[in-house]
Amino acid sequence: MFPQLLLVSCIFAALSLPMTFSLQSGQQKVLLVSFDGFRWDYLYKVPTPNFHHVMEYGVHVKQVTNIFITKTYPNHYTLVTGLFAESHGIVANDMFDPILNKSFSLDHMNIYDPEFWEEATPIWITNQRAGHTSGAAMWPGTDVKIHNSFPTHYMPYNESVSFEERVAKIIEWFTSKEPINLGLLYWEDPDDMGHQLGPDSPLMGPVISDIDHKLGYLIRMLKRANLWNDINLIITSDHGMTQCSKERIIELDKYLDKDHYTLIGHSPVAAILPKEGKFDDVYEALADAHPNLTVYKKEEMPERWHYKYNNRVQPIVAVADEGWHILQNKSDEFLLGNHGYDNALAEMHPIFLAHGPAFRENFTKEAMNSTDLYPLLCHLLSITAMPHNGSLSNVQDLLSSATPKAIPYTQSTTLLLGSGLPEYEPEEAYPYFIGLALGSIIVIVFSVIFIKHLIHSQVPALHYMHTEIAQPLLQA
Ligand SMILES: [Zn+2]
Repeated sequence: MFPQLLLVSCIFAALSLPMTFSLQSGQQKVLLVSFDGFRWDYLYKVPTPNFHHVMEYGVHVKQVTNIFITKTYPNHYTLVTGLFAESHGIVANDMFDPILNKSFSLDHMNIYDPEFWEEATPIWITNQRAGHTSGAAMWPGTDVKIHNSFPTHYMPYNESVSFEERVAKIIEWFTSKEPINLGLLYWEDPDDMGHQLGPDSPLMGPVISDIDHKLGYLIRMLKRANLWNDINLIITSDHGMTQCSKERIIELDKYLDKDHYTLIGHSPVAAILPKEGKFDDVYEALADAHPNLTVYKKEEMPERWHYKYNNRVQPIVAVADEGWHILQNKSDEFLLGNHGYDNALAEMHPIFLAHGPAFRENFTKEAMNSTDLYPLLCHLLSITAMPHNGSLSNVQDLLSSATPKAIPYTQSTTLLLGSGLPEYEPEEAYPYFIGLALGSIIVIVFSVIFIKHLIHSQVPALHYMHTEIAQPLLQA
């Protein structure tokens, strides 16, 4: 009887435990969200209860070192490839490739030539090659046919499409008959307003509050679609923003002859292509021109920037100090806020929060690299990562399966305006253990029923045996 019971119990345990563990080890759903230009410390500028809700019930990384140059397209491509700019090939928002003899320009939306993107393979393609489906709402590059593929579902880029419409598409794809396992959602702010107002402006307060409301809307929609407890939501950004000033302008026209070069990439990293035979003239004229401008020959770029081994990095690169603007002359457009500077500067760093079954709760980590996100995404999606510059081991401690007991989130000593406004009911503390307990109860209940059934089935036989044995005695 015991071997039978053990076997049946094992079968039931095996049947019930996948309900508990499926989200720990099997196929996971991932939604990656980028709020462009959301600097790491915007979380503390004004109350941001929705961001703090995610931090309280998920993970938060305080300092994310993004990649140089700290611009939108290079960093968004890093998030989905795990590569430095020199390796994925999107080295700037504006590029010229001398081998292809082609230009790429974000300003003119001349970004659709696949050849610029095909030095790497973004995660949605790898995900689809593994037999899964992906959906992208305006994520940079997702409406470009890369390696002959688009995401399974995508929205052609159109900045006038509202956040709500983008969220609706994401929810539709996650809840369709053939649901996606990877969603990518992009929103243009607070970058746009950060450029216009400057990050130090008090008017940035309402802009950040608006982003927090948008996150709240996304959370409500995920809950309404019964996705909230099922989905691994990662909220990040490409870069931060720093305050500029009309007092801090470097005018190239003061030092260089306009006919000697073409300006490919713009402030705060000027990518300079000297005209034929003019390299030395340009370099020497600019090298010591301004105390807040550091000028590099391409091959002399600091190793830590990983920004020299690509044809699209121009022969001379001039990098402004934080808060300084490079213009050809003062008639060029001036921005009160900008980014693109050295990625070691804290003001260039983005946010990183995550919530979901794969992540620990109430856990804060000090630092990671933005290149580490890609192997983490591949791990969650159970797909094999392409070669990359990140490391899963750098971020493994964010995962609940690595260490089930979370270290409590300790609040920073900086002003935490957003931390004291609970808008939500507390979430389940340990859904994993609740699942385990339910599985165990099923096994115990079944075992009891089985034993009872076994005893009942034995009773008539015993009774019959007694009757048979007793019969001769009665006859005797
Ligand atoms: Zn920007």
